[in-house]
Amino acid sequence: MADHDHDHEHHDHEHDDHDHDHDHADDGQELEREARRLLALSRIRQYGDSVLRMKAREVDSFDADLERLAERMTELMHEANGVGLAATQVGVLRRLFVFSDEGEDRVLVNPTITTSSRDTELDDEGCLSLREVLVPVERATSVTIEGFDTKGEPVKLELELPTSRVVQHEVDHLDGVLIIDRTDDESRRAALAKLRPQPVLGAR
Ligand SMILES: [Zn+2]
Repeated sequence: MADHDHDHEHHDHEHDDHDHDHDHADDGQELEREARRLLALSRIRQYGDSVLRMKAREVDSFDADLERLAERMTELMHEANGVGLAATQVGVLRRLFVFSDEGEDRVLVNPTITTSSRDTELDDEGCLSLREVLVPVERATSVTIEGFDTKGEPVKLELELPTSRVVQHEVDHLDGVLIIDRTDDESRRAALAKLRPQPVLGAR
């Protein structure tokens, strides 16, 4: 989902023990966070990678590997400043995604949207696999989603905006569907122009 660059809530002034180097420490933390974000993004499959167009398969074993994958994805999602990440985006064609539900980390395995509201909302959506792109996408405002946690226990969530939008976006990933498929023609054209391969500064 969208990068939350505006969401810098760590800039409080509660570091009294380090008052003498407060400003420097803050700059350092800022740079470190940005470095971590870029590193995380480099580990997330980007537009053009064919895996993003593939349909993921059901998870059939709820084992330690699944748990580790979910943990790794959750960490990556946070480091990339995202609010959702599907397994497809890390090159794993299995039906699971992680997301942030009003600040709480959640994992959904083999998810199915079982009800969608008739009410919809049109709003800009971003994606960690399509950096720089924000396009309007219409989504149901509320959904019921059912699936399993990493232990195989059933999970059923009734979600409203903005989280309902996040899970619809992530389920799409598991079917190889991207936001540019869900937007209007004009927005798609503009997005594709931005996504055209171009020289990358500082690429390694
Ligand atoms: Zn995405």
